[in-house]
Amino acid sequence: MSTSLAPEHNVATVCPLDCPDSCSLEVTVQDGRITAIDGSHVNPITGGYICAKVRRFPERLYGADRLLYPAVRKGPKGLASFARVTWEEALGMIAERTRDAHERWGGESILPYSYGGSNGLLTQDTSDATLFRRLGASRLARTVCAAPTGAANLAMYGKMASVVYQDVPEAKAIVLWGANPSASGIHLVPYIRDAQRRGATLIVIDPRTTPLARQADIHLPVRPGTDLPVALSIHRFLFEEGHADTAFLDAHTRGAERLRERAQPWTFERAAAEAGIDAGRLRAAAEAYAAASPALIRCGWGQERNRNGGNASMAILALPSVAGKFGVRGGGYMMSNSASWGITRPWIGADEAQTRIVNMNQLGRALVDETNPPVKVLFVYNNNAAVTSPHQQKILKGLEREDLFTVVFEQVMTDTARYADVLLPATTFLEGYEIARGYGPISLQLGKPVVEARGEARSNADVFGELMERLDLRSEQDPSGELEEMLDVLAKLPESIGSDLRDRGAATPPHNGRPIQFRDVWPLTPNRKADLFPERLDAEAPAGLYGYQPDPGTAEFPLALISPASERTVSSTLAELPRPDVHLLMNPDDAAARELKEGDAIRIFNALGEIRCTVTLGSWIRGGTVSMPKGLWRRHTANGYTTNALVSDALTDLGGGACFNDARVQVERA
Ligand code: SF4
Repeated sequence: MSTSLAPEHNVATVCPLDCPDSCSLEVTVQDGRITAIDGSHVNPITGGYICAKVRRFPERLYGADRLLYPAVRKGPKGLASFARVTWEEALGMIAERTRDAHERWGGESILPYSYGGSNGLLTQDTSDATLFRRLGASRLARTVCAAPTGAANLAMYGKMASVVYQDVPEAKAIVLWGANPSASGIHLVPYIRDAQRRGATLIVIDPRTTPLARQADIHLPVRPGTDLPVALSIHRFLFEEGHADTAFLDAHTRGAERLRERAQPWTFERAAAEAGIDAGRLRAAAEAYAAASPALIRCGWGQERNRNGGNASMAILALPSVAGKFGVRGGGYMMSNSASWGITRPWIGADEAQTRIVNMNQLGRALVDETNPPVKVLFVYNNNAAVTSPHQQKILKGLEREDLFTVVFEQVMTDTARYADVLLPATTFLEGYEIARGYGPISLQLGKPVVEARGEARSNADVFGELMERLDLRSEQDPSGELEEMLDVLAKLPESIGSDLRDRGAATPPHNGRPIQFRDVWPLTPNRKADLFPERLDAEAPAGLYGYQPDPGTAEFPLALISPASERTVSSTLAELPRPDVHLLMNPDDAAARELKEGDAIRIFNALGEIRCTVTLGSWIRGGTVSMPKGLWRRHTANGYTTNALVSDALTDLGGGACFNDARVQVERA
């Protein structure tokens, strides 16, 4: 009998995961099964290659952790003990429990919990939002990432489109601030190298000597949480030593004088002492930035994850205004470009209900503390809260509540899925439609199904639509199923965008995808000026606008624990795949002070809890700071806790973000 396989063929689609690059993909399929994934050239940024993370995505599709059938809990919560049921039974149970909670405690007792697991436009804020709005459910503030930078960018520039990768080679000075594109958003790296070949000065501000920091002209390994005084000292220098562009400030900004006042106390010496860096090198960085044109700041997310994160982002984003770096190609700032399309999601079938808002960084509080009404139904999708949100123990305690009905709609058996009462299998982006919006390059692409869904996995549109039906919340205008939802979204996008996506699979970006700030695009603030001192934020921030809150370290817990993005996961997505052992990275001097050597079993602890793992030594992390990768699962440490077990649920100064990098810990031999 012949067993020959059908010939391979390639299918084009796009990566929608939470990464700036939005790669166009070429997927190899044989006999209905994906055998390889690589980059294509449809999105020119992709350049025919992708990251190692998504190359391994077939292992998620076909791996042992993949969820294939609906299931209900059989054993204690958290043990992943489930029995298979039909979709009919699973959705029936969810509808019944939702209806019951609604009747007894009101709509706000239902909490939807989601964030960017599949970051496209179809899998979030479509039929899910319609359902939860019509239910009058609690609203979720999606703040786990980019909330402080987003608040700063919105207040200062109205989320004006920013510099794109393609224009980086024009820059004569590049400041990479809190960003490590070698781990996430890898397609930025060749553009930076190109700029360096053309003579650009590279300045990297990061507690670790990242690959690009190694090649930088100036590396400032700041202590986590001190980016604000560092940025303010540069402002002070610009104002006091004649480098401020007063003509630009007068014409295009407001609030410069107030910023100048707040920066005044921060001499290079004082800021450098606070940040634990060399004052001379800080001055050299400021001088190089002031002297160059075009000069570009890549404002990342590392600087936002602490008590000063919003103000640090404000101060960093204000630099190109004060130094007059706008108006030329390659000059200005680069950060998320997700707002560049001006998409307002008109397809959500209900107005936003004015119900209570739960900050997703305080999920543990919402589940454990007394609230009115209590959360009785938790619906988790596109998210793995048990490992990605702060105060892990409190979240796990909440998920263990017997009176909490938890639905988890997921692709694989995550740490959160293990706590579900009802588990629903979700399709991946390779098994359905998606509209992927890049937030590095300004791109919008349509992804199409590459293979059939495995098992009984279903799309978000199918499941939320059917729940609406069962809860009698459906209206005649609602699309039915994934295909209709995709067509509905295309029809409600601005005409040229929708037809481009339909006809070509990619939309034509505004300004040819390469806008020049303050020439092609202008602040979307009410007066079209950059607001360097929004009074509203001055009132909101605990120490005022540009006000610094000192390091939370103590003699007992002196080490700053950070959890930066790694080369292995997109947040916690793909963490189920086999990987080398996970270690805590520690500077050799800190290890010697604790008599630790390479590979020792250790405990990392503070008042909130402890992690047990092993240590690896590297002088590429600054002293006083230790690091573990972002996105770990509980299986990666000896005692089942990850860095978020040591992170409090305190919020950033602006934007309600998570203070991941404010964890202060001690480390000792286990
Ligand atoms: S995660 Fe980023 S770099 Fe990797 S394939 Fe997706 S868009 Fe490209």
